[in-house]
Amino acid sequence: TRVLLTGGSGFIAAHVLDILLQRGHSVVTTVRTQEKANKIREAHPKASEKDLSFAIVEDIAQEGAFDKAVVSDPPFEVVIHTASPFHFNVTDVQKDLLDPAIIGTTGVLKSIKKSAPSVKRVVVTSSFASIINPEKGSWPEHTYTEADWNPVTQEQAKQDAATGYRASKTFAERAAWDFVEQEKPNFTLATLCPPLVLGPIVHYLNSLDALNTSNQRIRDTIQGKFKDDYPPGGPYIWVDVRDLADQHVKAAEEQGAGNQRFFVTEGYFNGKLIVDAVRKNFPEYKDNLPKEDLQGGGFPEGGVYKPDNSRSKKVLGAKYRSLEESIVDTVKSLKAVGA
Ligand code: NDP
Repeated sequence: TRVLLTGGSGFIAAHVLDILLQRGHSVVTTVRTQEKANKIREAHPKASEKDLSFAIVEDIAQEGAFDKAVVSDPPFEVVIHTASPFHFNVTDVQKDLLDPAIIGTTGVLKSIKKSAPSVKRVVVTSSFASIINPEKGSWPEHTYTEADWNPVTQEQAKQDAATGYRASKTFAERAAWDFVEQEKPNFTLATLCPPLVLGPIVHYLNSLDALNTSNQRIRDTIQGKFKDDYPPGGPYIWVDVRDLADQHVKAAEEQGAGNQRFFVTEGYFNGKLIVDAVRKNFPEYKDNLPKEDLQGGGFPEGGVYKPDNSRSKKVLGAKYRSLEESIVDTVKSLKAVGA
């Protein structure tokens, strides 16, 4: 299958790309610069030009940014849209988070409808951020499913970077479903909603200083940032990047995944479980970790909401790695870049 993957330089997208190539798909991925394209190309020496090529899209927040990228020979059948800002160093929530998330998503869908009628399936990387209701806190009596939507408003979105990020994912995913309903394009949509994504970084794109947001608490743990407290535990649920990437590809391949939203999570983690996994498997970091008898780092008192991942298992055949395996592989990948 001929696939367009947006944001190929991202942490999650790099794993999606690997799985697409392993399964014999032919991929064009968008990146912001030729330099990033070169790095990805060098890391995949076995992939031919036919298997892997690039389109430069400098800024997904620009109207029409994807107009050229969606056109290819042979034409695309699948588009996987992962590109979206995920960081909290923002000065302007609208410009830095909301615009690229929302215009990026509606922009790629508009370009497909206009210029790529061969596309039959679009997969969008959304987030648990678009499911969770932050006002409910740990909400132990609730089970989150794909039926839940973050009720964040336009006004609240501007409050702070964390709310802005969650709003960017919520509004972007809603805009995607609205587009399909109103525009009735040739493709069906599938969205994936992962919570915290952990797992090995790809060495050719990442460094310890410029690490993707969701792995930072593991880096900080082994670097000794948490000696008197534990790394943060929120949102208390997680998924391994390789399992999430696999489900992106399944969501593209499976007929039955169309018109569905998927809550993609293995289950629970907290700060203490991260530290325990590092302590057990990497004695060399012992002196950087909180003392074994340090209190805290657990789940909120009274418990925490339950995640329901049954749709991902049923429709996508999702299999989930354990937290310990994921943390071990993440730490190994960080060691490989000098941790
Ligand atoms: P990364 O920061 O590693 O990847 C983000 C990607 O988006 C990069 O390729 C980045 O390009 C690209 N991008 C961001 N803004 C723009 C822009 N304005 N124009 C062009 N490209 C842009 O993060 P992840 O891989 O973790 O995130 C990928 C997706 O997964 C996002 O949609 C994110 O919201 C979602 N997600 C991630 C979770 C996590 O825990 N990691 C959890 C839930 C959802 P560049 O590198 O050049 O800046």
